[in-house]
Amino acid sequence: MTMSARLVLAGSRVLVVGAGGLGCPAALALARSGVGTVGIVDDDLVELPNLHRQILFGEEDVGRPKVEAAAAALIRVVPELRVEPHVARMLPHNAVALASRYDVVVEASDNFPTKFLAADAARLARKAIVHGAAVRWHGTALAVGPNGGPCYRCLFEDLPRENAPNCAEAGVVGPVVGVVAAVQADLAISILRGEPVFGVLFTFDGLSLEARRRSIQGRAACALCGTPRSIQRIEASRYAVTRCDI
Ligand SMILES: [Zn+2]
Repeated sequence: MTMSARLVLAGSRVLVVGAGGLGCPAALALARSGVGTVGIVDDDLVELPNLHRQILFGEEDVGRPKVEAAAAALIRVVPELRVEPHVARMLPHNAVALASRYDVVVEASDNFPTKFLAADAARLARKAIVHGAAVRWHGTALAVGPNGGPCYRCLFEDLPRENAPNCAEAGVVGPVVGVVAAVQADLAISILRGEPVFGVLFTFDGLSLEARRRSIQGRAACALCGTPRSIQRIEASRYAVTRCDI
């Protein structure tokens, strides 16, 4: 990496939404790559069953707020890193304000309401966002630009009406989330360096070890990036469903 590229990263700010299986390795990769400031937003406590894939935590962290344990772990590895721990959930009342304070949002959450909320908040704050998801052996990542689509809602439109499997029911394979998180960090760094990575869906199959890239098409009728755009502000009722997909 050139000196100017390092300086760009050192002066940059990335928000990681969720300090779980995706957020932990994503934050670590961002920190080690030279991103100067990493914000982490999560209101959960560290739990023993999560340790196999939430690589910033040890048994001594059980019961501690995840963002505090994650911040301490990141500083141990990269002492010059600035970490901004937000012991909170990304919710309708704070989402746009949180996104506004960073250059790029890495959406590493474990539920659909937060994924859609982060997508909408990033668009309203005119920030790029990198989505990630992993269920069983299947992982995906998608970078969306600050000024429009193709976006997360071009792919998924709205919160699922049917029950989606959650992480406890479906299971998550640690190495698959690690791959997705590494791709998310890579995409975030590419965005900070001004590279055109938007609108390409990355998929990874942990059984066949097959990785694919596919350009996605924006939908003209998309509520978030179509014309006219129907989502002009965050309305809490849009995110009331509490189903989960990781
Ligand atoms: Zn869209």
